[in-house]
Amino acid sequence: MNDTRLTNAVLTRRDELIALTQDLIRIPTLNPPGRNYHEICTYLEARLTAKGFTCDLIRAEGAPADSEAYPRWNLVARRAGKSPGECVHFNSHHDVVEVGHGWTKDPFGGDLENGRVYGRGACDMKGGLAASIIAAEAFIETYPDFSGAVEISATADEESGGFGGVAYLAENGWFDPARVQHVIIPEPLNKDRICLGHRGVWWAEIETKGRIAHGSMPFLGDSAIRHMGAVLHEIETVLYPYLTTKTTEMPVVPEGARQSTLNINSIHGGEPEQDADYTGLPAPCVADRCRIVLDRRFLIEEDISEVKAEIMRLLEKVKADRPKFEYEIRELFEVAPTMTDRDAPVVRSVATAIERVLAREPEFVVSPGTYDQKHIDRIGRLKNCIAYGPGILDLAHQPDEWVGVDDMLDSARVMALTLHELLVCQ
Ligand SMILES: [Zn+2]
Repeated sequence: MNDTRLTNAVLTRRDELIALTQDLIRIPTLNPPGRNYHEICTYLEARLTAKGFTCDLIRAEGAPADSEAYPRWNLVARRAGKSPGECVHFNSHHDVVEVGHGWTKDPFGGDLENGRVYGRGACDMKGGLAASIIAAEAFIETYPDFSGAVEISATADEESGGFGGVAYLAENGWFDPARVQHVIIPEPLNKDRICLGHRGVWWAEIETKGRIAHGSMPFLGDSAIRHMGAVLHEIETVLYPYLTTKTTEMPVVPEGARQSTLNINSIHGGEPEQDADYTGLPAPCVADRCRIVLDRRFLIEEDISEVKAEIMRLLEKVKADRPKFEYEIRELFEVAPTMTDRDAPVVRSVATAIERVLAREPEFVVSPGTYDQKHIDRIGRLKNCIAYGPGILDLAHQPDEWVGVDDMLDSARVMALTLHELLVCQ
């Protein structure tokens, strides 16, 4: 194969890559509420149509958060080769999180300084989207006779669960293994890392019940907060130590997440908090209810039914110990853990490309939290999927977020070589 021609085709696009990243950052696709989704999709449609892609603009009608004011728009662009073959799909989310405080740069300016492009979404993940577009364009120009197809999608709402984005596309057949065989998600995981998947998630809300009474005579009521205290005591003294014993073979980064974890996302008990401008005192009442939201992250070695049973057993134990203890549990959300095989074709091809471009072995990792791979895996039933892209994960969602131009170029080279591996060398 001719590495040099492909390498040059990427490297000569340096200025174009910078300009594309800047253009994408300058469209503030804030989520929530989901601004400018149509604008970013039509911007990409114009660019990719001019490069010979066939584009579909897809609104996730009826998906959560889709509305006339904030429609959930997605773009899928496809460029077919000379002959039939497999399809390689690059999927990036186009939404970005809120700006937050502490910026010294214009969050939507796309400033270029010392080889870095700054802005909200630079790293997570407009830099990755731009790199995949440049990689695809360089590959198509160098190998116009390739077989199969290259697809690029820009999808909505990853930052809020992906239901108006990849989940909707997967439900409508866009990731059917009959039409797409390889998926690369250019999330910012560092240019020498291949992310094989993520741990599982289970969210549940537990509510303890009590009886309201005057706070000066608590013995006439029954405090839901004290009941919840007993639940928390059990979690603290029994469940947490037990979870540390559950470790995984998954190469999760950071290493602290190589075990089962539990976070208590929130706790509310008793009367609701008053508005900030309320100047009175709270009323003295015994709390008649208390709620917590659990965020349990679990491992590929664990079964979700066992994850749930642990909590049920804990609650039943507290109930047996405490007279009048009553509770309710509501399940909110669950995602199964997923980990693509290291021998899967997309993994092998990207690994080979990383070795060639960076002259080092790739690091295989697993994400502690989920991302859009969950929908491709579960709804799309497509297992040959990874995350690979430029950018430093720790910078995601931070003030003064940036992506390095050289990192984008390196990973664009890896992506272009991967296309060569999968669509020319076969
Ligand atoms: Zn992201």
